[in-house]
Amino acid sequence: MSEPLHVIISGAGVGGLAAALGLARAGLRVTVLERAPILDEVGAGIQLSPNATRILRAFGALDACLPHALAPEGLRVRGGRSGALLMRMPLGALADARWGAPHLVLHRADLQRVLLASCRAAGVDLRTDCETLGFAILPDGVEAGARMGGAGSRGDHVRLRGDLLVAADGLRSPLRERLGLGLSDRPIYSGRTAWRALVPGAKAPADALLTETNLWLGPRAHLVHYPLRGGDLVNMVAVIEDDWRDDERADPWRAGETDPRALHAALSGWRRLARDLVALAPSWRRWPLFERAPAPRWSLDGRVVLLGDSAHPILPFLAQGSALAIEDAAALARALGGCGGDVAAALRAYEAERLPRASDVAVASRRQGAIYHMSGPFALARDMVMRGLSSEAMMSRMDWIYGYADGQGRRRCLLP
Ligand SMILES: Cc1cc2nc3c(=O)[nH]c(=O)nc-3n(C[C@H](O)[C@H](O)[C@H](O)COP(=O)(O)OP(=O)(O)OC[C@H]3O[C@@H](n4cnc5c(N)ncnc54)[C@H](O)[C@@H]3O)c2cc1C
Repeated sequence: MSEPLHVIISGAGVGGLAAALGLARAGLRVTVLERAPILDEVGAGIQLSPNATRILRAFGALDACLPHALAPEGLRVRGGRSGALLMRMPLGALADARWGAPHLVLHRADLQRVLLASCRAAGVDLRTDCETLGFAILPDGVEAGARMGGAGSRGDHVRLRGDLLVAADGLRSPLRERLGLGLSDRPIYSGRTAWRALVPGAKAPADALLTETNLWLGPRAHLVHYPLRGGDLVNMVAVIEDDWRDDERADPWRAGETDPRALHAALSGWRRLARDLVALAPSWRRWPLFERAPAPRWSLDGRVVLLGDSAHPILPFLAQGSALAIEDAAALARALGGCGGDVAAALRAYEAERLPRASDVAVASRRQGAIYHMSGPFALARDMVMRGLSSEAMMSRMDWIYGYADGQGRRRCLLP
């Protein structure tokens, strides 16, 4: 019997871990290199829509997520200033029935723990404190160069040979820079910052603890909150239009707390409930939101390929960045699992499937952000349209995202 393909993955975020799990379950040998010494997702929540949870179920990881997750019964959209209910899209059991998998919210650390345990059980070799520095294409594979950190390692360099190197190394992907996509291929600041905080559930008003995802819309700002861990915490994300200099700390996960005055100013005039919740947060982290122009290709010489944010960083207004990374993982596992050793052909199939899908969702996310932040007569028109939408109309608008069936073509959904 021939040896299984060996895939090296750089980066153990949601994308890297999901890819490692999918590939290992497809029978491939997988090594993950992660530069962080320990995997410790920061305190923040994540929404996992049915297009992602359906794949986690296929990967055998969904059941382990469920005890940590909540399935919000709906998405409530309110005017930030008026407090008026603009629309409510049902989720919960209806989402599960319509899209064939649950719509969940959970703590990022819980998701990471589940993915990590599933990877280990599937035989993935995960090396932390190991930074990928570059690669060389070989006649019959690829060699990744990495530096080991950690006490006693003296920054030793290691070389690993594989059949494929997957760059799951995030927005500022060092490996993407080696793909020759041109000098203009850089992250583009969107003019907005996201502010993240966790509020202790015991302090939060009862309204914030209902099992719903809440979205408040105001001029040039919006706020999302939902309960986590059975209501022990409320996850808050506010997005405002804001300046950002690229010389500020590039990694907001590691950056310190941020003075929230700009946030309070952006939400002044908002309803008391929203402002009270914002005021309850013990600390905030400010997060610049970046995109990239779509790349014409994600791979090099049939041996190196991008996945997740390194391939398609998108604005978070549809909560689809991790979901797309999980979809990428499923597509890559399917392509490589059935390629009979022809890695280049598998990458062509992966790109053909994933490039259009990621661009469609990126465009929709950007548009959604513009709609959320409308002001004046545009906001009035938006509110009128939202008020007139039936539950069916709201859900059917999400079919092409939540009902996406792997590999079944552009904008095809599970529904008739
Ligand atoms: C405010 C906000 C809210 C969001 N909410 C949601 C949501 O609700 N739902 C959703 O689906 N998405 C959401 N997203 C998007 C989501 O967070 C990202 O799309 C997702 O985390 C990308 O995962 P990734 O694995 O591709 O990249 P990352 O999470 O960035 O992981 C990259 C990993 O690579 C490692 N790395 C980097 N360089 C190297 C190297 N040289 N060697 C080794 N390792 C390296 C990093 O340390 C990191 O661990 C949100 C984003 C933001 C900003």
